[in-house]
Amino acid sequence: MLKSLPIELPKRLRLANLPTPLQSLDRISDLYSLPYGGPRIWIKRDDLTESGMSGNKLRKLEFVAAEARAQGAQVLITCGGVQSNHCRTTALVGARLGFKVQLILRGKRTANPDGNLLLDELAGAEIAVYSPEEYSRNLQGLFDSWAAEYLSRGQKSFCIPTGASDGLGIWGYISASQELLADCADRGFSPDHILCATGSGGTQAGLTLGCHLLEAGVKVTGFAVCDSANYFQVKVREDISQWMAQSGVSLDLESLKILVNADYKGPAYGVAEPEVYQTIKELACLEGILLDPVYTGKAFHGLLQELKKGNYRGSDNLVFIHTGGQFGLFPHRAHFFPVAE
Ligand SMILES: *Cc1c(COP(=O)(O)O)cnc(C)c1O
Repeated sequence: MLKSLPIELPKRLRLANLPTPLQSLDRISDLYSLPYGGPRIWIKRDDLTESGMSGNKLRKLEFVAAEARAQGAQVLITCGGVQSNHCRTTALVGARLGFKVQLILRGKRTANPDGNLLLDELAGAEIAVYSPEEYSRNLQGLFDSWAAEYLSRGQKSFCIPTGASDGLGIWGYISASQELLADCADRGFSPDHILCATGSGGTQAGLTLGCHLLEAGVKVTGFAVCDSANYFQVKVREDISQWMAQSGVSLDLESLKILVNADYKGPAYGVAEPEVYQTIKELACLEGILLDPVYTGKAFHGLLQELKKGNYRGSDNLVFIHTGGQFGLFPHRAHFFPVAE
C-alpha cells in the first residue's frame, strides 16, 4: 500500500495538467542500460505540465500564487537569468491569474528577444535587466526597490525568490512525489532512483522530502547545473528547514540523505559542452523528447555517463524527471549545427 503524506497540503491554485505522463524510454534502456545490468529508464514528463507555462516551476507556482492571492497582492516580483524558465512561467501565470508581473533579469537585453524572453514580452511582463555584477551584488535591494515602487502606485507586491525555491515552493515537489510514486505503483514497480536537474534546489528539496515523508525507500539525486555539491547540500537543507518552520513538522535533518552529483555541470550556468548538445539531439531522434541545454540536457547527459560507468547496476527502475525548459533550445540553435567561420 502506498502511504499518503502525513500532513495536509496548503492552499493551491490548479494550473498544471496533472498527473503528467510517466513514460518508459525503451530505446535508451536497450542501448545504454538493460544489456549491461542497469535499470529500466523512465521519464516523468513534467515538461507537459502546460504549454507556455510548461515545466517544473508551474508545480511550485500553484502554491506560491495561492499564497500571493491570499495575501491580497496585485503584483508578482521575481528574478532570474534573461532566459529563465521560472520567469517565463511566472509571466504567463500572472497573465492567467490577473497579477501584474515584474521581472528582475540578469544579463543583457538583446535586439530580437528569443526563447523565454520573447514569451516574457508576449505575456506582458514588465522587464528590468541588470548586469550580472549589479544583480549579484544587490538582488535583495532590487526586490525592495521594485516593491516600494509598486507600493507608491498603490499596489501590493508578492516577492518570489529564484526558481520559487523556498519553504513554500517546495510543496510543488512534495506533492509531485506522491503523484510519481502512484504512477510507478500503477506500472507495477517502486523506483530505486529518482534523478532531476538541480539549479535553485527546490525541485530536489521537494522530491527528497516528499519521498522521505512517504517512506518510499528511493534515492533522489540532483544533477547540479551550476555551483557545487556543497552549495546544494546547504541550499536543500535551508529550504527544508524553512518548510519545517512553516509547517510545524520536525524532522532530523542530519539523517536526511541529500544526494548531489556535480560532475556534469560543465563550464558554467547556461554554458554546455558539445557532448550535451549531442545528447539532446540523440534523445530527440531516439525517443521524440526535447531536452534543454541549461538543465535537462546536462542532467540527462550525466545519467548516460553514469550508466556507462555501471553506477546504477543492480537496480531495476530509475525515473528521470523531465523538468521542462524546451524554449531554452532556440537561443542555442547555433550549437546544434555549427558552421565554420
Ligand atoms: C529551474 C529548472 C530546473 C531546476 O529546478 P530547481 O528547482 O530550480 O532546482 C530544472 N530544469 C528546468 C528546465 C528548470 O527550468
